[in-house]
Amino acid sequence: MSMQPEILTPLATETIAEIEARYPPRALPEGACVTRFGPSPTGSLHIGGLYTSMISRQLAHQSGGLFMLRIEDTDKKREVEGAIDLIVDSLRHFGLSPDEGELTVGHEVGSYGPYRQSARTPIYQAFVRNLLERGLAYPCFASPEELAAVRDQQQAAKIPPGYYGKWALWRDRPEAEVEQAMAEGRPFAIRLKAPADRPAQVTLPDVIRGDLNFPSNEQDVVLLKADGTPTYHLAHVVDDRLMGTTHVIRGHEWLSSYPLHAQLFGLFGWEPPLFAHISPIEKMEGSSRRKLSKRKDPEASVSFYVEQGYPQEAVLEYLLTLADGRFEDWRAEHPEGREGFAIDLARMSRSGALFDSVKLDSISRERIAAMTAAEVYAAILAWAEIHAPDFCARIAADPAYATAIFNIERGNERARKDLAHWSTVPGDVSFFFDDLYAADEANVREALAAVTPAPSAELLRAIADEVDPNVERDTWLEALRAIGGRFGYAPSMKVFKQDPQAYIGHFGNLTEAVRVVLTGRRQSPDLHEIMQVMGRNRVKARLDAAAGWIA
Ligand code: GLU
Repeated sequence: MSMQPEILTPLATETIAEIEARYPPRALPEGACVTRFGPSPTGSLHIGGLYTSMISRQLAHQSGGLFMLRIEDTDKKREVEGAIDLIVDSLRHFGLSPDEGELTVGHEVGSYGPYRQSARTPIYQAFVRNLLERGLAYPCFASPEELAAVRDQQQAAKIPPGYYGKWALWRDRPEAEVEQAMAEGRPFAIRLKAPADRPAQVTLPDVIRGDLNFPSNEQDVVLLKADGTPTYHLAHVVDDRLMGTTHVIRGHEWLSSYPLHAQLFGLFGWEPPLFAHISPIEKMEGSSRRKLSKRKDPEASVSFYVEQGYPQEAVLEYLLTLADGRFEDWRAEHPEGREGFAIDLARMSRSGALFDSVKLDSISRERIAAMTAAEVYAAILAWAEIHAPDFCARIAADPAYATAIFNIERGNERARKDLAHWSTVPGDVSFFFDDLYAADEANVREALAAVTPAPSAELLRAIADEVDPNVERDTWLEALRAIGGRFGYAPSMKVFKQDPQAYIGHFGNLTEAVRVVLTGRRQSPDLHEIMQVMGRNRVKARLDAAAGWIA
């Protein structure tokens, strides 16, 4: 042993046996999966992170196990302020809060923590101290320049790059040199001493991909950085062991690190957990596929779906269709919702799932169409509270009116499928509110001026005076047709076409005029329902005012 392990790992306070005793095997039923999501807080949550969390959580829950959130914040240089909040809040927003870990920022539940890696440095150092004691790790004082020089030589000689074998400058240094470097206070990392007697190959029995063979790890990778914090490799192995993870579900970019991870599990005498490497969510760019990127694609960030106001369930169901091709058919048979669907990792795609926003919107439209007006009101209120505060105050002030608006064409055979997310709602329904309608008067006037044939002021007044919207649709239609007849409108398009000269227009022209007066738009949901929701007085006031513009 070339150097006192305690000096190299000063923060370790326990032996690994003592630590392991604090993390006993979990008392869970046979077959229960323990999964975790291990994000690094380097920015807003990527949709792939939500996808991984949903799969991990579902797998745990369907098997009677549990799901953890572990914040992998060992790289303080890359950490972004507020990112932990975004991760924790995003999971909570989508109903994917963990069973263990932070449920709200700074508040952990579970007895296998701490669940922030930055709070576990003494634990990692204890395990590294154990490797040092067994001659399986060593301090490395190589400077960045020396490492670069090694790389250059390897490149020139066309041999595999890295810190290994004879290229590992500090692997077999005499003790005196190590002590001198220490005495000089030179910064050092602790590296793994990759065992020379390793097998040529390791097999990863990946749950999604089947058996994959890799050459064994020969690199003396860094386990502890110069600041004494661990690398992902060490932290992953130690944490997933201590926390009792049964299934490591992580991005496919970690596939090539598996030989190292398997080696580390082996050096501690541990059976590795099962691994499932998930393919990334991709999108088409021209004729080629690429990973969804937070830099280029707004839809890569979970915050996009939150801001747009997609119902949480719609997003999760869409992600489930990406995870398992059987889900859509299953869902059609299970109106009660997604929860009972059992994920099967072995069925997940080995190539990337392709993101399709049209599909997401169509799932979302279906889900919204199936909601009651009260559910829609509650969901819009919650969305608007954060993303449209003025609109929120407006609908909170008159819940009955707002709910009636959201009930238009809901729950009947003409169920609306036009809504995919809430962010369009404030604009869609603005005309129901008198102050917004008044503010838009110039546009309403312009739209009315464009209606042909132009309605007369008398026609609008007659409708204002005589038509009560609070009657059955047929009675209402009859009343309107009768007035139309008095003013020269054919009762239908068909009748109009038989003798166009005999009429000034047809019934559709008349309803268009009314629609434009009431909404300022040529297209709207059902006119009869709109009038009922607005109420007779409001309808009359608008029609009378519009008659005034014409006269
Ligand atoms: N912190 C790692 C990452 O951000 C987690 C990988 C894992 O789940 O093990 O990719």
